[in-house]
Amino acid sequence: MAILDDLSGYDFEDVMVDVFRRLGYENVRQSARTADEGRDVLMEELLEDGTRRAVVVECKHTDTVSRPVVQKLHSAVATYDYDGPVRGIVATSGRFTGPAREYAERVGTHCDGGVDLLDGRDLRDLSEEIGLDLYNGRIEVLCTETLEPTHPLEGPEAPLLEAADAVDHLPLETELSSSGVETACALEPTVTVTARTRATFETSVGVIHRVDERDAVVIDGTGVPSMAPDSARRLLGADRHRRVDLEGATDGFDERTRGRFGRTESEYADWAVERLRRHHTTTVGYTGDNNVDYEKTCAPTSSDVMVEAVDAVYVPHVTATCRLGSYRYVYAYHAGGPTIEVSRNDFDACVHCAGAGEKTYCPNCGSINCPDHTRTERLEGTPVCPGCAVTERFALKRKYFYDEANLEDFRERYASMAIHEKAMENPAGVAVGVVLVLALTLALASGLGVW
Ligand SMILES: [Zn+2]
Ligand SMILES: [Zn+2]
Repeated sequence: MAILDDLSGYDFEDVMVDVFRRLGYENVRQSARTADEGRDVLMEELLEDGTRRAVVVECKHTDTVSRPVVQKLHSAVATYDYDGPVRGIVATSGRFTGPAREYAERVGTHCDGGVDLLDGRDLRDLSEEIGLDLYNGRIEVLCTETLEPTHPLEGPEAPLLEAADAVDHLPLETELSSSGVETACALEPTVTVTARTRATFETSVGVIHRVDERDAVVIDGTGVPSMAPDSARRLLGADRHRRVDLEGATDGFDERTRGRFGRTESEYADWAVERLRRHHTTTVGYTGDNNVDYEKTCAPTSSDVMVEAVDAVYVPHVTATCRLGSYRYVYAYHAGGPTIEVSRNDFDACVHCAGAGEKTYCPNCGSINCPDHTRTERLEGTPVCPGCAVTERFALKRKYFYDEANLEDFRERYASMAIHEKAMENPAGVAVGVVLVLALTLALASGLGVW
């Protein structure tokens, strides 16, 4: 099979591990490498009657496979150490000779002790069936599913509008419908590797540590594998998300991009295994027979970590942007249909600081402000941010105005106020004034010697 011959620097065995795992075989792994031979693939299958059968796979990345190869695997199957039935598979990127096929038919196919043959054509058919792309020169993950980028009942801009609605004094209809919301959807390649780690650590005093855990490692599949962002992990872990076909899923967004799974399933699985080994490595203290305390580092080996499933899916990251006044606001989240996990919410952030508390919109300049950065416009009684306000002191207190015109209006109004009304422009000042007057009165009184 020419397409597999193009796999440069990539082990045919690794390709087969991906293929068999996709086909639903369990505990798919490679045997230890021996000096003169390639690595066999070992795995298990669950039979209809509930029993488990081991499958030993001989992989041959050659043009033709002749009878001795099949015969040798047949013997290996007969002597394979397994608590249950065993069968064999010879998989090749090329083709089988006539005698090889005759031999396999004689020992039986799809039965205990038998040997099945998969040639290049079979592999190409299988790979198409299970969605692995054998044509890229590498067998990268080919994924046709994404979590749903939008809520099933709402448009892509709905979550931003909802977030904006939580801001005080932000009139959605007038401010937002006019400026509009721009939406971009990036489909991020994400791989979840589920694996079971089982290890027992013994010393001369017996078992000192045991690990038996099932973990799901969620990997950002773009480029070099790394842990997926928290919001994507929470979303996948929540199990309330919805999956849809890739086709047409991002219609309705202004901008659409799709990342590429840059690795094979095996590479993602290997990365997860390494990570789990580190995660489950711990140092245990114990007391020896000689009553001396010891410490031992208990590190699971890679064969202690059994990969159970590799699940590839795109996770949509939606970035919705709107412009209010001279400010640009972003609301970004990972989406999974009815559920979203927010990664950025500018509507809950003060444009001046990281201040907490309820946010208030300044319709004058479009800023969103924390309580510390919000003032009341003296003339209109509405919130105004200190950044854009015109200020002037009245009754020794600083007053805030949207603009010079409002300030001028208030100057006139202030000028025509009665003295007690002016004093009320500074309630704290009034209190201070009363105290001052009292003190002065007392001082005068004492000075006059009335007391
Ligand atoms: Zn602030
Ligand atoms: Zn403002």
